[in-house]
Amino acid sequence: MAQYDYDLFVIGGGSGGVRAARIAASLGKRVALAEEFRFGGTCVIRGCVPKKLYVYASQFPEHFEDAAGYGWTVGETKFDWSTLVANKEREISRLEAIYKRNLEGAGGETIHSRATLVDSHTIRIEAENRTVTADQILIATGGRPSIHPALPGHEHCIYSDDVFDLPELPKAIMIEGGGYIAVEFANIFHGLGVETTLVYRGKEILSRFDMDLRHTLHQTMVEKGIRIVCPAVSEEVVKRPDGRLDARLNTGEVLTVDQVMLAIGRTPNTENLGLEAAGVEMDRSGAIPVDRFSRTNVGNIWAVGDVTNRVQLTPVAIHEAMCFIETAFKDNPTEPDHDCIATAVFSQPEIGTVGLSEDEASKRFAHLEIYRASFRPMRHTLSGRQEKMLMKLVVDGDTRVVLGAHILGPDAGEMAQLLGISLKARLTKDDFDRTMAVHPSAAEELVTMYKPSYLVRNGARVES
Ligand code: NDP
Repeated sequence: MAQYDYDLFVIGGGSGGVRAARIAASLGKRVALAEEFRFGGTCVIRGCVPKKLYVYASQFPEHFEDAAGYGWTVGETKFDWSTLVANKEREISRLEAIYKRNLEGAGGETIHSRATLVDSHTIRIEAENRTVTADQILIATGGRPSIHPALPGHEHCIYSDDVFDLPELPKAIMIEGGGYIAVEFANIFHGLGVETTLVYRGKEILSRFDMDLRHTLHQTMVEKGIRIVCPAVSEEVVKRPDGRLDARLNTGEVLTVDQVMLAIGRTPNTENLGLEAAGVEMDRSGAIPVDRFSRTNVGNIWAVGDVTNRVQLTPVAIHEAMCFIETAFKDNPTEPDHDCIATAVFSQPEIGTVGLSEDEASKRFAHLEIYRASFRPMRHTLSGRQEKMLMKLVVDGDTRVVLGAHILGPDAGEMAQLLGISLKARLTKDDFDRTMAVHPSAAEELVTMYKPSYLVRNGARVES
């Protein structure tokens, strides 16, 4: 190994890259990590973390409204976008510094530069115009929002990378897409007082989720005042003389807004990385295919996280990085486990979900029991808010194993984390039934739904 400058060179300082570099360094390996932009990657700098802060910011108007039913009089309120942006910046800078410090503290070297592959063991540090060599190389360059070149006027549109630092809060926005980002930002902007229209090409938003959650969230968002236009796509975005934008939809409607945000998926960051020079293959989407241990087609080059286009989630990238360390440096080949991943959509109300949707389960299991509760959570009683909470368990009627758990409502993301343990452990509905309720809570509903709401037999719904 001494023939190389480093035991491990990591390209990309996001969640996956930093974790792998830090753990390898703590094992005494000679490690360097190159990041061209800011440490922390998408999650910390322009993704999960600032998004959640903006979600909190956008929830205050409802808290102010709800306070009245609890006896509070809230005085005049006013929102200042630039304060939010500045405070967000302070927080992500703090986290960025921690990421860097932890890696350096473990003995890793951080390099602020774009790094590209020259061959399978040589890396060019572009900013310093020098090359280094490494025994093992990990590519963790993540992804970026997909642009939409086929849309005339796409150059006028913004993406999730731009949205946190807009010079001013738009008065009206159109968001295109029906996935996590589009739905979360539709709720954020609406909460901050922006006239918001969500345009989605499919029949119902959030195509990968349980249909009950999708319908109920859609309905609740509309009741709050978010306009959802689907199925529809934009066909042209034109800049008007007054600086605003006209987005023409395929329905013929023209929306006049201050910003058009496209949230139509993400593209792996693999261009001009020297992958061809090193012999690393890419698939048609530009992602790096890897084997079950995150190894590329080149034996000493590995890839984790969004650049591999497996499951685009921060905890997944971190898990893949940990498995990579086991495999490459601890002589313990470990495959990342992508089964049964709990996830949250920070919409308002929130979605928390793990396991199979009813539709997915009905294709794979002959007998399903569906337990479903829709109720007004206690916190909405005195406030007078009419929003319903939805909880649903999808259970295999033969084995009683809980296959899916789906929640829409306050703190659903927090609940999904705990349900994730139960579903990962393949607990049965009987285990849920044996579990004492926590009272009074909304989550107690998960262990008190004793009778199936309906059954699904060979894909068809049957009343129980
Ligand atoms: P998603 O894949 O979730 O959604 C993309 C959306 O864009 C889909 O609704 C898709 O429609 C639509 N779409 C795709 N192409 C076009 C097109 N050409 N014209 C119009 N619509 C189009 O991607 P996002 O960008 O929302 O998020 C990227 C990833 O980031 C997510 O998959 C998720 O893994 C991660 N993420 C996770 C979050 C969380 O954990 N809370 C938050 C934010 C992001 P269709 O459904 O028909 O394919």
